[in-house]
Amino acid sequence: MAYDKLSCKEILEKLSEYIDEELDPSMCDEIDEHMGDCPPCVAFMNTLKKTVKLYNTSGDEVDIPSPVRTKLHDFLRRRCNEEKE
Ligand SMILES: [Zn+2]
Repeated sequence: MAYDKLSCKEILEKLSEYIDEELDPSMCDEIDEHMGDCPPCVAFMNTLKKTVKLYNTSGDEVDIPSPVRTKLHDFLRRRCNEEKE
């Protein structure tokens, strides 16, 4: 299966699966490649990883917590606006 180059939005949508290692290896490679060239996504991934780790230690089932989801949406909106300028 071949993937087109992923946009930041697509990367961010897959980040929680990526962090949980639930993605196809080929998709992980795509994300790794994108991360190598996109500091905002790296920064966001680090935030998300920290949050997920925090939730993981509580032993509960992990979904992206809603504050992170809100942050993600803000982030995406900002990215989209930046790209238009
Ligand atoms: Zn990106």
